[in-house]
Amino acid sequence: MTRRFPAGAAYIEGRFCPLSEAKISVLDGGLLHSDATYDVVHLWRRRFFRLDLHIERFLAGIGALKLTLPFGRERLEEILHELAARSGLADAYVEMVLTRGISPTFSRDPRESENNFFAFAIPFVWIANEEQRARGLHLHVSGIARIPPESLDPRIKNYHWLDFVTGLYEAYDADCESVILTDGRGNVTEGPGFNLFQVRGDRVSTPARGVLGGITRRCALELCAELGLQPREAPIAASELASADEIFLTSTAGGILPVTRIDGRTIADGRPGPVTQRLTALYWAKHEDPAWSTPLTTPLREQASQKARSKA
Ligand code: PLP
Repeated sequence: MTRRFPAGAAYIEGRFCPLSEAKISVLDGGLLHSDATYDVVHLWRRRFFRLDLHIERFLAGIGALKLTLPFGRERLEEILHELAARSGLADAYVEMVLTRGISPTFSRDPRESENNFFAFAIPFVWIANEEQRARGLHLHVSGIARIPPESLDPRIKNYHWLDFVTGLYEAYDADCESVILTDGRGNVTEGPGFNLFQVRGDRVSTPARGVLGGITRRCALELCAELGLQPREAPIAASELASADEIFLTSTAGGILPVTRIDGRTIADGRPGPVTQRLTALYWAKHEDPAWSTPLTTPLREQASQKARSKA
């Protein structure tokens, strides 16, 4: 079987390479124990969207897990710019990962491991396809509890996804397209790759606890304030959802995404609501705003060859 790779580029073991060459050891703690943190920023029309916030969240996760990045923030930014430029993609999904790595003596003491940084840029990833974005997603609310914040701080972006994956199969069995997990006390938390919001009148709320501090979630809260709505972070009971005016999801992989059905029950008139639509339009408009997005810088390599060309 030939293995196919998407378009893109990778950075691993200190060098840039094609995706097909980016490999990690079977002994890496990131693989064997999900001992890693990561972040995903997107590139849209060759501009990074809220890169500073993604880098800050990544660095905070690294600190919390007592991992060590082998270089500073400036070099990280440089690598991400060069990686995105090398991928040749205008709209990309750029993932940066730091794993515990391997101990040279195969010690199980995590302090003895050499941490492993890698990153890759692939074509932009959508959580919902075009049809789902137009008509709204059909979501399943699972009884499966998200790993509780008492066990693992969900603000550290992590690969502990088996609760989500189990929930996804439950959703497919229930004829739904994705899943939202609860907190074991009847409140909703988040889903595989997204945060959730409900709209009631001009009140727009999202769970405060037991969730990743999504960058798109933050964007939605800021955009609500800009639109004169009343955003708030507060518990949402799973039983409330069916009577919401609107429900939407937020994710780097697609922005603001409408939900129009929960476990077979239609939300309001069954179409993406006006607040969701206004937020979506504003979210995409912000991709041109220099306060929210940064153009891709030309890699140093190219700058040098441009200089050489202009001298010749
Ligand atoms: N919650 C989880 C568990 C996630 O994995 C993600 C993104 O991958 C999100 C929420 C949304 O976060 P962001 O808006 O930063 O993409």
